[in-house]
Amino acid sequence: MSEGAACELCPRRCRAARFAPARGAAGPRAGFCGAGACARVFRWGLHFGEEPPIAGEHGSGCIFFSRCTMKCVYCQNSPWSWKGAGEDVTTERLAQIMRTLAIDDRAENWNLVSPTPYLPYIREAAHALAADGVALPFVWNSSGYERIETLEEYRELCDIALFDLRYSRNETAARLSSAPDYVEKARAAVGWAAANTRLVVRILVLPGHADEAIENLAWLATGLSSDIAVSVMAQYTPAYMAKDMPPLDRTVTREEYESVTEAAADFGFENGWIQDLAAADPALALLGENMPPEHGTVR
Ligand code: SF4
Repeated sequence: MSEGAACELCPRRCRAARFAPARGAAGPRAGFCGAGACARVFRWGLHFGEEPPIAGEHGSGCIFFSRCTMKCVYCQNSPWSWKGAGEDVTTERLAQIMRTLAIDDRAENWNLVSPTPYLPYIREAAHALAADGVALPFVWNSSGYERIETLEEYRELCDIALFDLRYSRNETAARLSSAPDYVEKARAAVGWAAANTRLVVRILVLPGHADEAIENLAWLATGLSSDIAVSVMAQYTPAYMAKDMPPLDRTVTREEYESVTEAAADFGFENGWIQDLAAADPALALLGENMPPEHGTVR
């Protein structure tokens, strides 16, 4: 990062002077997302609960980064996404984590969970490892709230895009995630990924908003292709501020969920996964909220 560089990695483009501040200027400043002058990691380890091609046989090598560019009121990872729990890591330490996942844990891939504020550090760590002959495919695992320019610049960190399509209306995105331009940004990111890399689109069905999940499936089928792999998720469980925000204070009803799974079938989506509503385990859904920090397996 150049001296005084302002961060514009995500669509917020808040221009926080997170990286080396200009001479004479105040020290590094945290951005809207809360990210500061180095990468921050909450937990890392093998994850066996991701979609089958991502978890594979040996598990996906997840790195859960602290902070997030979205501000979802129902976030299930609030201890680290909103509140910033985690450990600041140097690029060398990040490379060490990635090396352990690749060599000791034999992970199938490096699964970067909410990586966007830290992409420069991740790339630097990856380059150092590549020089030692250590490499794995990268999964870019995010809300889909991304800038095309950033995806282009960090293309090498996106062998598989695991992107959400969370809302089809910006009014909802503004109210629930403080992201009033989410729809166009996430759809553009998904379109970019469909054209440039492997893509899995996650559709988390939110209580009271099943119609938006269906609208996103319709957009995917008509605007891109129904050959895209979609992962329809039933696991929503009230968390964080949403515990007191009807209708987000309940789980998804069978009627709501089936309206989405039937739409997925009607639109011709055959490549992907549909979570079983009856089997959706609230304890698993709140894994993020209850997960301890540092190194460990996630099942
Ligand atoms: S990644 Fe964080 S610091 Fe960078 S533009 Fe987005 S909100 Fe601002």
